[in-house]
Amino acid sequence: MEITVKCAGCAAALPVRAAKAPAEISCGNCQRLIVLTITPAVAEDASVDTCPVCAGQDFYIRKDFDPKVGLAVVVVGATISAVFYGYGMDLVAYGVLAVAVFIDLAVYHRLGDVTVCYRCHTEFRGRFKRTAEAFDLHTADVLEAEYAKQVGR
Ligand SMILES: [Zn+2]
Ligand SMILES: [Zn+2]
Repeated sequence: MEITVKCAGCAAALPVRAAKAPAEISCGNCQRLIVLTITPAVAEDASVDTCPVCAGQDFYIRKDFDPKVGLAVVVVGATISAVFYGYGMDLVAYGVLAVAVFIDLAVYHRLGDVTVCYRCHTEFRGRFKRTAEAFDLHTADVLEAEYAKQVGR
């Protein structure tokens, strides 16, 4: 599986391959050293049992979707639509807008789920079975505060 470590110092995203992960990585942005403890389940892409970064065992699942991409599709669609609307071609304008929304939905549904660590926000992508629950705000509040204390933020 692919692991995206979030640097606790500067929040940079650091991609790591679980199967060949080194014992520690250093952040290319702020040089912070991050120790990785990869469990066999994570290395074999079987499941995410323990977070390699913070040793936490609480994860949630979210759609692997970049909201910026989705917004761009809609904005481009709306712009093209406005041009047709300006020429009095209402039906074409609505059509273009509908297509943009449809593309947005299609992209959203094609993407898989990404498992995220509640504490350090490390992300896990791979073929492993998704067992984590959906995001829970209360859990996030509690665990993020706990992790912040742990890393001294
Ligand atoms: Zn950093
Ligand atoms: Zn973690």
